[in-house]
Parts: sequence; structure tokens; C-alpha cells
Amino acid sequence: MEDRKKILVVEDEKNIATVLAYNIKKEGYDCDVAYDGETGLHMATEGSYDLLLLDIMLPRLNGFEICEQVRRTSQVPIIFVTAREEEKDRILGLETGADDYVTKPFSFKELMARVRANIRRSAGEVIRGKEEGTPRAEPIRIGELEIDRERYSVTKAGEIIDLSKKDYDLILFLAENVGTAFTREELLGRIWGYDDYYGDIRTVDVTVSRIRKKIEKDPARPEYLMTKRGVGYFLCDR
Ligand code: CA
Repeated sequence: MEDRKKILVVEDEKNIATVLAYNIKKEGYDCDVAYDGETGLHMATEGSYDLLLLDIMLPRLNGFEICEQVRRTSQVPIIFVTAREEEKDRILGLETGADDYVTKPFSFKELMARVRANIRRSAGEVIRGKEEGTPRAEPIRIGELEIDRERYSVTKAGEIIDLSKKDYDLILFLAENVGTAFTREELLGRIWGYDDYYGDIRTVDVTVSRIRKKIEKDPARPEYLMTKRGVGYFLCDR
């Protein structure tokens, strides 16, 4: 089988790990399991995986630490699967560079929908990136922001802004549709690949506030990434 996608589960509760692996394989993916953080990080960086499912509370190295370290070298989709449902954990998870967050107890249907969406998105990006002979995309300039679609980077007044994959995807999408407001449900569909039944709109809010901290002079009074009351978010054409 040449193109079976491979998922790494890092989960110290053996019965949860077993059920996860069983269901992932049933969906047609390959699945490896690590039962502690150190082994998980090692496998994640040495192996070649299409998606990581990380628990947070793990022996030796927690899920946040794994995520942070993996993100230094890889844009592999990462989903936290955890019993901790406090908002600060959710925010911390996304800040360390995770793509999403699923809280236990979760439905398998929901989890697999997210897994599929994240794998599909990242596979689509790889294919797009490999296309030859397509015209070079010009950078998009909005005020002091410049979005370089060849380098997948964003600069403000010439300074590189450190963005996660999702931050970049969201800015690019809004920049390509500058001045148009999108609802959080629409953004979940476009950027995360979820239909609105499965997504959690707070994920969009957390991502927006994270981006504002990076690109706005005063995140409380944004000049670029704006809120349109009663609608959602848009990038202001300055
Ligand atoms: Ca645990």
C-alpha cells in the first residue's frame, strides 16, 4: 500500500490508546502508539507521520512540550486529545502550535472527522506546493503587512512575523478576500476544513487573538484583523 496515511497516538492510558488505535486503523490509516512523552517525541521527530494525536498529561514530557518541539521542524497536523477542558489549556495548546483540540469524552465520529479534515488539508497543501509551471503568486500587501505566498511567510514593515500554520492560513485567506467579513463557522470550514457541526468556533477566536498579538500594535484595538460585529472577522484594507 503506497499511500496509507500514518497517525501517531501519544497516550499513557492504555485502554484509551488501544481504542484510539483500533478506530484509526478501522478508518484505513496506519497507527503507532507511544505511552509516554519522551518516546512520543522521539517517534514524532524520527518517524514520518501525517498527523499526531497528543494527550496533554503524559509521563516524562507533556503534550504541550512535545507539540512545541515538533513545531520547530515540522508542520504536521497536531490535535490534542485530552480530558482537560479548561480554556487556558485550550489556549496554551493552540499557542504551542497545535491545529486543534478534542476533549474527552469525545465521539469517534467527531474525532475522525477532524482527523480526516486535517490530513486532507495538509495533503492538499503538499500537492499544491509541488505543482510546476503555475504562475508565481505575487505577494499580497496590506498596509505594512506583506504576505509572501511563495515563502509562506508574513512580514510587517519588513520584520518576519512568527506564525503557526493555521495563523498563516487564516491571514492568507482573509488577505485574499480583503475587506470581506467571514463568520467563525465559515472560517472553520475554510481554514480548518470542518463543517460547522464538528468545529468549535472558539478555536477561531483563540487563533484570531493569537494573530492580533503578533501583528497589531495594540491587540485590543486592532487595525488589521478586525471584528465585524454580529458577523465575524475580516482583514481591513488599509
Ligand atoms: Ca494522560
